[in-house]
Formats: sequence, C-alpha cells, structure tokens
Amino acid sequence: MHEPAFDVIVVGAGIAGASLAYMLLCQGLRVAVIEAGIAGGQGASALSGGIVRSYDPDPLLADLSAAGLALFQSWEALGLPGPSPYRASGCYWLSSGHIASATVAGSHMQYGRLDDFPALDFIDESRAAVNVLFEPGGGYGCPRAFCAQLVAECRRRGALVLEHTRVERISREGAGPLSVHCLASLLTTRQLALCTGSGLSAFLDIPESFSRSIPLLTVTSPDLQLKAPLIDTEHSTYFRPLNGQHFQCGSQRWAFLQESGPSPEEIREDALERLFAVLGRKVHVEVVSQGIAYDVYHSSFRPWIGHVDAEQQIMLASLYSGRGFKYALAGAVIGARKIMQALDKPYVWSAMDDHVSPRLENVFLPQSVVGLRHA
Ligand SMILES: Cc1cc2nc3c(=O)[nH]c(=O)nc-3n(C[C@H](O)[C@H](O)[C@H](O)COP(=O)(O)OP(=O)(O)OC[C@H]3O[C@@H](n4cnc5c(N)ncnc54)[C@H](O)[C@@H]3O)c2cc1C
Repeated sequence: MHEPAFDVIVVGAGIAGASLAYMLLCQGLRVAVIEAGIAGGQGASALSGGIVRSYDPDPLLADLSAAGLALFQSWEALGLPGPSPYRASGCYWLSSGHIASATVAGSHMQYGRLDDFPALDFIDESRAAVNVLFEPGGGYGCPRAFCAQLVAECRRRGALVLEHTRVERISREGAGPLSVHCLASLLTTRQLALCTGSGLSAFLDIPESFSRSIPLLTVTSPDLQLKAPLIDTEHSTYFRPLNGQHFQCGSQRWAFLQESGPSPEEIREDALERLFAVLGRKVHVEVVSQGIAYDVYHSSFRPWIGHVDAEQQIMLASLYSGRGFKYALAGAVIGARKIMQALDKPYVWSAMDDHVSPRLENVFLPQSVVGLRHA
C-alpha cells in the first residue's frame, strides 16, 4: 500500500481549521489545508465579532475560555505569526440576575453595579441595579486576520494550502488511509481534521447538533463611543467596538440552516430594539451594514474536540456554538495533542501547552462514535 501523501488534511480554514493546522505544522507533520473559499473569508469566522472573555457560567467552558484568552494575551511571547489580532480592551458582562463568582485561575474580575463603572455612563441610570462583571484582560480580536496570518504561516512552513477548493467526499477502504475527494482528484491522508463549521452535516451526522445563524448589524452613532465589548444577558445582545462611533450589535432573530429565516427588516428591528433596551433610551443610530453567518451548535453548547470514529482517524474540532473565537487556540492545542497520539508520534511540548491543562483534553470529547456519510 502507498504511503499516504499527508499526515493530516485539515478541511476548512475558519478559526478552528487555521489554528489546528498551525499547531500541527509546529509538530513537524505533513499537513494540507483545504478551504472552499479563502481562509477566514467564509462561514462564521468571516463575520465573527471576536469577543474574548474567560467568564462563562459553565465552569468547564470558563476553563477552556481562560486557556484561549491566555494564549491570545501571550501572542507575541509565544511567537505566533504576525501582529497580534487581539486587543485587550477589557470586556463587560451585564446581568439583572446573580453573576456567579468566576473561579478561573489567573483571571482577574471586577464585580459591581453600573455606577461602579464610569465607562458605562452611556447606559441609562434607570438600569442602576444591573449587575456588572468587568474582565480587564478580556477584549476582542479580528478573526479574519487570525485565520489569514495562521494559514499564511502554514504555507510558509511547507503545508499544501488549497483555497477555493471544496471537499466533495471522504472515503476509506477497510482500515487504510482516508481519501479526500475534490472534483476529479483525491488526496490521501493518515488523519483527517474536519473543521467545516456549519458544513459539518455534509460529512457527519451528529445527534443533537444544529446549525444556526448569528445575525448582526454594523451601526454608527454620534451618541456612543464604545471602548470595550459589552454582553448584555438581560437583553440578549452584544456590542463590539469597531472604530470610533462604529460598532456591531447582535440580533436574536435566528434562522436554521436551509430554512428561510427572518427578513432583513425583522433582523434590523430586533437588533435596534435590543440596542435601545440596553441603553435605556433611544439614541440616533444609522445602520451601515447587516450580515448573517451560520455556526454549528451542540445542545450541550460545548465543543467537541476529538476523534469521532472507531479507527481514530477522523478528528473533529467543531460545535463551537457561537463562541469559537475565544476557544480557538486552546481547542487547537488539544486537537494537536490528540492527533499526535493517534499517529503514535511524540508530542513536542511548547510554551503554548503551559496554558492548556491536560485535564481539558478529556472534557470536550465526542459523546459517541459517528459514522462518515458516503464513506
Ligand atoms: C456574527 C457572529 C458573531 C460572533 N461573535 C463571536 C464572539 O464575539 N466571540 C466568539 O468567541 N465567537 C463569536 N462567534 C462564533 C465564532 O466566530 C465561531 O464559533 C467560529 O468562527 C467558528 O469557526 P469554525 O472554524 O468552526 O467555522 P467557520 O468559520 O464556519 O469555518 C468553516 C470553514 O469550512 C469551510 N468549509 C465548509 N465545508 C467545506 C468543504 N466541504 N470543503 C472545504 N471547505 C469547507 C468553510 O468555507 C469555512 O471557511 C460569532 C459568530 C458570528 C457568526
């Protein structure tokens, strides 16, 4: 039997695929990246607000987020490629209910009411009783730059990067290598990493998973200078600064993949209603643009980072449930460790690994063995 051309083929170059491919290159593997569009230019990563925070009411997700945040904070020190796509502006979390004290190691949190945070003076005083959590180390990044920089570095280190190339099918003969089919051609690999976001259902049927849209508006307002991202759980929305008076805000008018969703007008009205509810009053706002992208979710709202087949050849780094950017680097470290283990090769420990506890490896595992469609 011929030696497969690659150790790993990564399908999809959104934040999950771009970061996993980079970590695998750091391990000295022969890697190919196949992306239907351009790295970071499609899927959820193309429109993502890139808010990064470690606080999460789910303690396991808080641990994963804290690891992801720590890696973003150390971008230059870790020698990650290009200028850091992350900006530590701090991040606000607003809730009318109780905010559980976050116990994530190393993350510094400030708790209080609206009055305790003068930077939030654009929010109406009538909301004085709202609980605020401020995470000074949190912030936001640019997912497009993140993907482009990591994939460019993969190319520089010798990976085969095929953009504008769609994987049509994956097949396997017995216990042999996997074949990845693109048009009339096929590439063979020992390991496959599926990082296809909402495109996952073309390859795997994962129980309790679904693809849902995340709609957002880009707006401008002379009345609001946003310096840091803000998540308002009471009104189920978020604000993410862009530049000066421009910022993004979220709508909750979701659509499921392949279903006709709300109209652009409904999305706009919903996002603006939430925006005004957060502020407690109407301010002058102009809508600059509107976008909608799909991410893949699991009903547990936890990602899966692990092999999904009995043969331990098909790795999944997915189901990021609308919060993938903050998990991306930590998820990729976990994925790379598992792939090295499956290839029976020694894992090269690096400074990045110091931020990602081995304990996290055994938490976000696939809950079942999943068969490939059309194998
Ligand atoms: C509007 C919006 C705001 C968000 N805000 C935040 C935030 O503030 N903070 C945060 O942490 N997360 C946020 N998220 C979530 C986060 O962006 C996603 O979880 C993350 O981008 C998912 O990345 P991914 O790589 O798994 O998938 P995707 O980005 O969807 O990438 C999948 C890639 O696979 C490719 N692909 C699919 N099928 C194939 C195929 N057959 N062959 C080849 N290539 C294929 C696609 O072209 C695509 O490039 C947001 C998402 C959206 C949409």
